[in-house]
Amino acid sequence: MIIQIVYLIYILGLGLTFGSFFNVVGLRLPLKQSFVHSRSQCPTCEYTLTWRDLIPVFSYLFLRGKCRRCGTKISPIYPIVELTTGVLFAVSYLIFGLHIELLISLIFISMLMIVFVTDITYMLIPDKLLLFFLPIFVILRIIHPLNPWWDSYIGGLAGLFTLALIIILSRGGMGAGDMKLMGVIGIVLGLQDTYLAFFFATLYGTVISGGLLLLKKIDRKQPIPFGPYIILGALTAYFFADSIVKWYVDTLW
Ligand SMILES: [Zn+2]
Repeated sequence: MIIQIVYLIYILGLGLTFGSFFNVVGLRLPLKQSFVHSRSQCPTCEYTLTWRDLIPVFSYLFLRGKCRRCGTKISPIYPIVELTTGVLFAVSYLIFGLHIELLISLIFISMLMIVFVTDITYMLIPDKLLLFFLPIFVILRIIHPLNPWWDSYIGGLAGLFTLALIIILSRGGMGAGDMKLMGVIGIVLGLQDTYLAFFFATLYGTVISGGLLLLKKIDRKQPIPFGPYIILGALTAYFFADSIVKWYVDTLW
């Protein structure tokens, strides 16, 4: 029991730290900047951040979301990504334990978090990022296949073709990046859960974007990235598909 709690705290800490790294990768990758060598700076006053400014979540709270030197507001995306990564890493451990699916889960969350940062910041999902993760998921789904083993491949194809069809029909509502992302997600999830992910992405997109429009937080003409909804949908399907399908079958059949 104690050892499990130690693991849980360790994985939570790992997630918070990785979340901080995913922010850096997501912000710098589309600008073709190195995310290993240069230190982070405040974009306004060029104050170089020290360890005190880089503690995940806590630094943001302690600084009340402002630069230590010039008081420029720090984007809440940083602590949101850190906290979400930490919590999702911990949830993965609680669900899967020390199983190979935990590794798949942690890498899947990592990809989704970086995509979240690039898409919400630049409205862009870099090919380079998806091409980095694609072979990893293909290999991991060979080592630990879905049932049947080819479910990964039809899941991937279904993700690609469904979004391709929507791009053609909606003439620009979604981008090629969303389509490729859904293809990679399909390999991890398999056919049924890919459609479930897509269903939830559309549901979240309608409710959240609709809500923001009603509250006049966004403009009708302003383009909204769809990636974050795909990410939410994929996480819902990945973690809760079994419970959702069971509930659906129990309730309606
Ligand atoms: Zn500053």
